[in-house]
Amino acid sequence: MVNEKMYELGSEPSAIRELFAYGLARKAEIGEDKVFDFSLGNPSIPAPAAVKEAIIELLDEPPVALHGYTPAQGTPGVRTAIADSINRRFGMNAAAANIYMTAGAAASLDISINAVANEGDEFIVIAPYFPEYRIWIEAAGCTCIEVMAREIDFQLDLAAIEAAVTPKTKGIIINSPNNPVGSVYSEENLRGLADVLCSKREELGSVIYVICDEPYREIVYEGVEVPYIPAIYDNTIVCYSYSKSLSLPGERIGYLYVPERMPDWQRVYAAICGAGRALGFVCAPSLFQGVIEKCVDAPTDVAAYAENRALLCRGLSELGYEYVEPRGAFYLWVKALEPDEQAFADRAKAHELLLVPSTSFGCSGYVRIGYCVDKATIEQSIPAFAALMAEYR
Ligand code: PLP
Repeated sequence: MVNEKMYELGSEPSAIRELFAYGLARKAEIGEDKVFDFSLGNPSIPAPAAVKEAIIELLDEPPVALHGYTPAQGTPGVRTAIADSINRRFGMNAAAANIYMTAGAAASLDISINAVANEGDEFIVIAPYFPEYRIWIEAAGCTCIEVMAREIDFQLDLAAIEAAVTPKTKGIIINSPNNPVGSVYSEENLRGLADVLCSKREELGSVIYVICDEPYREIVYEGVEVPYIPAIYDNTIVCYSYSKSLSLPGERIGYLYVPERMPDWQRVYAAICGAGRALGFVCAPSLFQGVIEKCVDAPTDVAAYAENRALLCRGLSELGYEYVEPRGAFYLWVKALEPDEQAFADRAKAHELLLVPSTSFGCSGYVRIGYCVDKATIEQSIPAFAALMAEYR
């Protein structure tokens, strides 16, 4: 007998992955350029040249150092480089002791949840949300509580969050810039969240952690600022990843930052180390710890995504589609043209447009378009979007 929950997870592939697999098969059948696959968030721009240079330099290091185990928390060198960068950019007072290297944001999130959760606790997620949150929360024996973002602007609905907090609430996952909507929470909105969580702490006598999921921090448009949550709310754990910012999703590299401002940060950091150990992470990939130490401030190439965003928004708005103007990340959140988003996505599929229905993200009425694709895919897809719209006229 196997674990039923794990069996279900493993045998029901995610809707997003299924769509991606369908796209690959369909491309083999009718040609690469005939299928407009907007399903995945796999960065389409290459990693910066600095990454390649760092890898080449590192390959001259003794192989044992290069490929060996590192301390579980990561090498002192990369942790110091990251702490210094956080201090320069956000005015914090981080040290290597506050940083724990991880295999990307997925590992950071899973470790954070397990570090603070006790069985039966609740974690709030803001719908629409990255579907893996629920899996990690439930695997930790906890309950995932969905709170809708404000539909008018997809900012945090503070009254709804306040109403969802119970004595069992252990944390809230905040993802900004956001997947799937592309929204960025304003400083005022986040200060409001901090006020709610502080007053709930007074009322309930227990800390509510903000688990801040930031793989898209660097991908913003038109000069939008992404407020740094640990500077606003002390009980924040930062889950960062280089998957999107440096286009390294397959290398699995990121970090956790337990800020020195958190009143019991040493205990939380120790629990992070414990959760990493219990979950079997051992250490983050050593070669890429070395790469990040050298490339910690390498700029993200946002220009290609900005061009795709402009093309797609112009094309779709001229056709009469409604969508949320993305301020960050590389997703467009588009209103389905009929109430059933799955039926809409199926009709889109008949035009070779692979769009993810919003059910995957815990809400209805929308589809997600991932525009981290070649510019040509966007350009060539516009007639298909026109034909799809024509079906509804
Ligand atoms: N969080 C969000 C919102 C994401 O979109 C993703 C990946 O797409 C992740 C976390 C996981 O990222 P990583 O590749 O760093 O594990």
